[in-house]
Amino acid sequence: MTNDVKKCLCDEPLCAKCLGVNCEDDNCKVHSFGDKLRAKRRILSNLEASGKEAKKTEIAKYRLEVERIGGLRK
Ligand SMILES: [Zn+2]
Ligand SMILES: [Zn+2]
Repeated sequence: MTNDVKKCLCDEPLCAKCLGVNCEDDNCKVHSFGDKLRAKRRILSNLEASGKEAKKTEIAKYRLEVERIGGLRK
């Protein structure tokens, strides 16, 4: 019906799952930019440290996200 960004329903500001993965709302009132950027960076460095070939697409995805979110904060 609508193409709006998924509304985030979690009300836990430090929810690791939302910060790292679930929260796709750039204007989320609960999960801040900075916290999401930090969480995704941490996941990214964990993925890179794992050195697994199978994680390649995931790593690329997180790199893009980190760049995108980092670019939003000006
Ligand atoms: Zn959550
Ligand atoms: Zn959220």
